[in-house]
Amino acid sequence: MRITYACPACHATVTADGIETRAALDCPACGVAVTVPDDAFAPGTPPRLRRCLVCPSTELFVRKDFPQRVGLAIVVAGLAASCVAWAWRELVLTFAILFGTALVDVVLYLVMPDCLSCYRCGARYRGAGVRGSFGGFDLETHEKHRQQTARLRAGSAHGS
Ligand SMILES: [Zn+2]
Ligand SMILES: [Zn+2]
Repeated sequence: MRITYACPACHATVTADGIETRAALDCPACGVAVTVPDDAFAPGTPPRLRRCLVCPSTELFVRKDFPQRVGLAIVVAGLAASCVAWAWRELVLTFAILFGTALVDVVLYLVMPDCLSCYRCGARYRGAGVRGSFGGFDLETHEKHRQQTARLRAGSAHGS
């Protein structure tokens, strides 16, 4: 399994492979190590992730490893092309383009692998073992963590 996370000390983006077998993750930028909790993985083949290694929250969600910008670019390009076809009174072509765009998006979405994302720190996990322990995105949990982070920020700003 591979992790991509923001270093808690220097906020550099760190990527590490084979995290199932590691005892710690170190940041190549500042050298600060994050200790992998003992109970982070449920035994099995492949080992399943139970909690975030960085924060370490137990609340994560499954999402598609799909770059949203790519999806959006396809939709925008499709809309632009269909507008041109519409202006040329090419009715069939207009709908063919719109339908084709939607189809490409659906197919891309289906072939993209799943990844796990942490609500609290945004760490991402990819590879075997990301499925099985967690559900999809939940707005309520997301909101809870967002408010917690906002409170922490407000608190530390007040204290210093
Ligand atoms: Zn660092
Ligand atoms: Zn986390």
